[in-house]
Amino acid sequence: MTSRVVILGAGFGGLEFSTMLSEAVGGEVDVTLIDKSDAFVFGYSKLDVMFGRTTPQAVRLEYRDIAKPGVRVLRETITAIDPDARRVTTDAGVHDADVLVIALGADYDMDATPGLAEGGNEFYSVAGAERLARIIPTFSEGHAIVGVCGAPFKCPPAPTECALLLDDELRARGVRDACRISFVIPFGTPVPPSPETSAALMAELAERDIAFVPGRRVSSIDPERSVAALDDGTELAFDLFLGVPKHRAPDVVIASGMTEEGYVPVDSATLRTRFPGVYAVGDVATAGVPKAGVFAEGAARVVAKHLIAELRGGERPGPYDGRGSCYIEFGRGRVGRVDIDFLSGPTRTGSFNAPSAALVAEKELFGSSRRARWFGT
Ligand SMILES: Cc1cc2nc3c(=O)[nH]c(=O)nc-3n(C[C@H](O)[C@H](O)[C@H](O)COP(=O)(O)OP(=O)(O)OC[C@H]3O[C@@H](n4cnc5c(N)ncnc54)[C@H](O)[C@@H]3O)c2cc1C
Repeated sequence: MTSRVVILGAGFGGLEFSTMLSEAVGGEVDVTLIDKSDAFVFGYSKLDVMFGRTTPQAVRLEYRDIAKPGVRVLRETITAIDPDARRVTTDAGVHDADVLVIALGADYDMDATPGLAEGGNEFYSVAGAERLARIIPTFSEGHAIVGVCGAPFKCPPAPTECALLLDDELRARGVRDACRISFVIPFGTPVPPSPETSAALMAELAERDIAFVPGRRVSSIDPERSVAALDDGTELAFDLFLGVPKHRAPDVVIASGMTEEGYVPVDSATLRTRFPGVYAVGDVATAGVPKAGVFAEGAARVVAKHLIAELRGGERPGPYDGRGSCYIEFGRGRVGRVDIDFLSGPTRTGSFNAPSAALVAEKELFGSSRRARWFGT
C-alpha cells in the first residue's frame, strides 16, 4: 500500500510529479517534496539573465507559493539516501517512504576541468549567469570562446544559443568587428538528433562569422595565459570564456551507491531503478533521453500515472516515449523549435520548426503555463 511518497528535488521532474499526484489523489496519500533551494528558475532564464534581458530576482519562482492539496513542501538539504530502506536523511531529520522519487537533477563538476573555476566563466548556474551579466558588457574587443567541457550536458541547444546571443549583444553595442567568437562543442553538429535543426543553426553561425569547432571539448583552462586547451591538444587564447561545465549526479546520489558512470540507471519504459519502490526521473537518471526539462517532466508524468493507476486500480500507462520539444533562441528576437522523439520508434528522430513569431509566443506560454500549474502564479 502506497501511503508515503517522498520526492527528492523540486525541479521540472519533482514539480510535475507532485502536481499530478495532488490533482489525482491529493489528500489520500502523504506527498512530501524536498528541495534545498527556496525558488525554482527555468534553465533558459539563465541566458536571459546573462545577457541582461532580465534580473535574477524576476525569474525566481518561490516554493512558498506552492499550495497543492496533500503536498508538503520542505526546504531541507538531503544528506543521505538509503535506497534499500527508502529512507532519506536531511539536515532537518529523516523521511521514510513507500515510494521514493529521485529528481535531484545534475550538478556541475568544476574540478573536472582544471582552471575553469579561476579562469573561465560558467553560464549554467544562476550565480554564473548573474556574474556574466556584469562581465559581458565590459568585453568590447578580442576573442570570446563559448566552450563545452563535457557531455552529456543540459539542454544541448543552449551553448549554440549562447554564441548567437553573444553575437547579438556585441552587434548592438557596435563592437562586433573588434571581436572574434569561437564555439567549441563535443558533438559533430549543434543538435545531433535533428540534422535539419543543426543545418539551420550552422548556417546562422556561419552567417555571423562565428567559428564552429565541432567534435571537441574544452579539457582545461590556463588562467595565467588565458588559454583554453581542447581534448586534442589544440590551444585557443581568449579574452572572454563562457563555459558549460562537465555535469554529474549530485554527490549525495553518488554516495548512495545508486549511480553507474555518474548517473542513476533506470528502465527507460518505467523509470524504475533496481531498488523496489525507487524511481529516478530527469537529469539525474540515464533514461536514454537528453538532459532537458521537458524530458524530466515527461518521465515524471509516466511515474505519476503509474502510481495513480495503482492507487485507483485504473489502466497502467504505456511506456515512457522520450518525446519532447525544445525552443531554440536563434538571436535577433527569433525562436525556433525542435521536436525530438528518442524512444517511441526504432531510431531517434528530431524535426525542425523554423523561427517564427508564433514560436516566440509559444515559448512564452511554455513558461507561463508551468508557472501557473506548479506555482499558481
Ligand atoms: C542555460 C540552460 C538553458 C536551458 N534551456 C532549457 C529549455 O529551453 N528547455 C528545457 O526543457 N530544458 C532546458 N534546460 C535544462 C533544464 O533546466 C534541466 O534539464 C531541468 O531543470 C532538469 O530537471 P530535473 O527535474 O531533472 O532537475 P532540476 O530542475 O535541476 O531540479 C533538481 C532540484 O534538486 C535540488 N537538489 C539538488 N541537490 C539537492 C540536495 N542535496 N538536497 C535538496 N535538494 C537538492 C535542486 O535545488 C533542484 O531544485 C536548460 C538548462 C540550462 C542550464
